[in-house]
Amino acid sequence: MAKAPTQDLKTSVQLTHPERIYWPDDGVSKQDLVDYYALAWPRMAPFVVDRPLALLRCPDGTKGPRFFQKHAWKGINPHIEEIVDPEDKDGEKLLRINDFDGLVALVQSAALEIHPWGTTTAHWEKPDMIIMDLDPGDDVAWSAVIAAAKEIKQRFQVLGLASFVKTSGGKGLHVVAPLKPKAAWPEVKAAAEAIADGMSADNPEKYLSVATKAKRTGHIFVDYLRNGRGNTAVASYSTRARSGTAVSMPLAWDELTDRTGPSSFTLKNAAPRLGERSADPWADFFEAAEPLKS
Ligand code: ATP
Ligand code: MN
Ligand code: MN
Repeated sequence: MAKAPTQDLKTSVQLTHPERIYWPDDGVSKQDLVDYYALAWPRMAPFVVDRPLALLRCPDGTKGPRFFQKHAWKGINPHIEEIVDPEDKDGEKLLRINDFDGLVALVQSAALEIHPWGTTTAHWEKPDMIIMDLDPGDDVAWSAVIAAAKEIKQRFQVLGLASFVKTSGGKGLHVVAPLKPKAAWPEVKAAAEAIADGMSADNPEKYLSVATKAKRTGHIFVDYLRNGRGNTAVASYSTRARSGTAVSMPLAWDELTDRTGPSSFTLKNAAPRLGERSADPWADFFEAAEPLKS
């Protein structure tokens, strides 16, 4: 599939103070963030467009106050659409973007992290992915996190599902299985929970499937809780509001080595991976989708 040359991406969104620094430790500005997203956009778009979004907004950059925001606010940029959750009871609107202008509007709004639902608004009740979030406690070796990701891949395979892996940009990895939107949230969450429970039952010395902070040390929490209705996980290619400018980077499975850690892929080193000549490790993501068997 031919992709539009990224350097031609135009935006009609007015960026105020493009020189404003968002990552002071790294000297990365608002304009730098727009430039990174312009490169990432062709690959990122299907993971952020038409999905309800939660945002981590940091108006003064990574060192200032931050708020995790699911709802529209007063004076919101018109390129960020306010949408109504069909199940909504309290009348608060959710957020959606439809194009690159929307993403630039998020940057202008100091959204340094973008956290979508695992579904699109075309089929709210039927997720199009399962996300397994591996949260290693202190003292867990990176090789153990990689082994856990590969075990999840095998368990998804048993269900007839393909697996794709990305760094979280924080401490762990996310293993994501694309779904044909057929099963509803409760069923999808139950499948994710069954994988986490299976892993902790088979190897209790390695894995936890309950979010007890006390036992985290030396264990990996297999966080299946990203898969409930209204829950979110950081988007592929989203930056994180942390020093170092790590992003949540989609990887090929053979890129998981002891040399690459959870935050080694950054806004600053991403460009060569995102060029048209560089293969997209998640190119087949949506084509590989299968329905969850009930
Ligand atoms: P790490 O590798 O450090 O675990 P992560 O993105 O996987 O990075 P988690 O703490 O495992 O982080 O996941 C938390 C998820 O919960 C986030 O991805 C986000 O989508 C969601 N979330 C819900 N409420 C909040 C909140 N108040 N602040 C931050 N995240 C929140
Ligand atoms: Mn995590
Ligand atoms: Mn988690």
